[in-house]
Formats: sequence, C-alpha cells, structure tokens
Amino acid sequence: MLARHGWAGLGRSIKVRCFLNEPSVKSSLAFLRKTPWARKKLEAWYVYELSRGPKAGPAPKPAEPSIAGVARTALEALGVKEGLEPGAAPANPRVLDLVPPGGIKKLLIYAPDAIGRRMALIHPELFAGIDAAGFRKIDLRSVYPSKTPVCFASMFSGLMPAGHGIKQYEKPALKCRTIFDALSAAGFKTAIAAVKDSSIDLIFRGRQADYFSEEYDPQVTDRALALLEAGAHDVILAYHQEYDDLLHKAGPWKDEAVAAVARHTEAFLRLAAAAKERWKGVPHGILFAPDHGAHTDPATGKGVHGDDIPADMNVTHYWKFRRGQGDGAL
Ligand SMILES: [Zn+2]
Repeated sequence: MLARHGWAGLGRSIKVRCFLNEPSVKSSLAFLRKTPWARKKLEAWYVYELSRGPKAGPAPKPAEPSIAGVARTALEALGVKEGLEPGAAPANPRVLDLVPPGGIKKLLIYAPDAIGRRMALIHPELFAGIDAAGFRKIDLRSVYPSKTPVCFASMFSGLMPAGHGIKQYEKPALKCRTIFDALSAAGFKTAIAAVKDSSIDLIFRGRQADYFSEEYDPQVTDRALALLEAGAHDVILAYHQEYDDLLHKAGPWKDEAVAAVARHTEAFLRLAAAAKERWKGVPHGILFAPDHGAHTDPATGKGVHGDDIPADMNVTHYWKFRRGQGDGAL
C-alpha cells in the first residue's frame, strides 16, 4: 500500500500521525498493531483495491448468468412462455431444474436492496435460517452500473440497461415490457409492495398490477403478510431498503448496517413461512432476490455501489419451490 500510495496518500485516507509526521515502516507497523480501528481501515482499503482488480483492460467475461435472467425464469416457472421483449435474457436452467413438474401457480419475490454475495461470506450466520429452510443458492451477476433502478429494471424485464433504458440512478416508469405485463396478459394477479418512492415503487407503474406504497420496511412486511392472507394475488413482490440506507450512512460492514441485513433475512423467513402456510396444497415458488452488492469507499469509509467490481456485481439469489399436496420437504 505504501508503494502504491506513498505516505501522503496513506495519510490522506487514514489520518494518523504515523503516516503524516516523520513516517517510517517500523513506527507505522507498531502503531497499526496496537490500533485496531486504523488497522481495519487499512485492511479494508487493501481488500477493496484487490477486489477492483487491474485498472485497465477489458472487463472479465461474465462467468455467471445475469440477474436479467430472473424475468424469464420466473415466468417459465409459472408456465408463461411469452410476454417479454425479444431480447430478454434466457431463463436460468439451474432454477428451472428445481421447478416441480407442471410448474407453479404462485410466486413470492422478496427483493432486499444491496445485499451482495460478500455479505453471506462475511456473515454466514445471517443466512443460516435461509439455508436451513432448504433454499437453493443461485449465484448471479448484477448489471452495470450496479444501481438499484438499473438492476431491478433488468431483473424484471430481462433486458440489459441499453435495452430497458434506465442507465443511471433515475426512476422513470419503464416503457419496455416486464414480467408484470406478461403476468397480467397470462391472467395472473400481481401485487407490488414497496417503500414509497423507491425504485420498485416507481419504475413498474402503469401495469395491470396492484401497487402498495408503504412508509418503510415494516409496513411493507405487514402489507405483504396481509396480501398473502387475503389470497387475491398470484405473484407478490415485496421490497425492503433499510440495509441500503444504512450502508450509505455508515458503511456496508458496520454493525448497524449488518443488523439491518438480519432484519431483512428475518422478514424474508416470516414471509416465506406465511406463503408456505397460505399456499399449502398449491405449487409455488419463493425467491430472495437482491439487486446488487456494495463496497467501502476508501475516501469516506462509507458504503457505495455502482462499479463493475465483484463486491458490487456478485449477488446470490435463493430459490425454493414446493409442490402441491403432500410434499412438505420440497
Ligand atoms: Zn444504494
């Protein structure tokens, strides 16, 4: 890090005397050994730079399917073969392999903002309940720029940003076809419950769907539970944003932000249990589908996302399907 940034660069990012006044490797190492906060900061910065990879050169070939494949995957699981734009990404065969014969009739999608794959690597305990409930992990790549409206537009239209038209942080109603158009054309009733004025609340407007704009995450959870209970909808999408709010305020790996991830996974398991109960006897699917990850901005120590780096682009979705009658195990 010294070779790359020099003492002045280190001192600008981590304002400690050992970098700024008569710096030496020996005194800096001694200081870092007994100063956990400074050591953590330097380590996080180093890991961040590692994750960025070389600055120049072409982007690595995407090794994993994109989140854009979720649209067609969800539709095919529901037995809907058409309704997206021609360029929509193909369905994910690994997910379709899990779908019970004859397909599903109901689908619950829980979309928490900004939970990247790295969170489950650093804090596997937060995902233990999801693992224990038998959800299958599907590793996916987000889309670039890894910003919420760009990503969810891809996830639910099947198109890359150039195709759906949202290429930055902006929230116009999408003009392309989405799964919500395809679902209503196929006779499915959809409900979208989201925090008011969030991306999901705004960019899918104008479809034959029921929209519920809620004050914040707990109200979204209550709404989704009430919708499950009422039983009028076949597809329910619920969006939570607290982790994203806190990672920008504090940093993606800070305790207060991580606590929000725990609330998201708990809310998801509550919704999943309610769906299992309410849709007993009906073949259905349940999906945990975050949009992108996040990383620490070394300049501020706070969380950001939007780059084409693993921390922002690598996400894991969790899918589970149940057959109808008499199959609790699936
Ligand atoms: Zn964000």
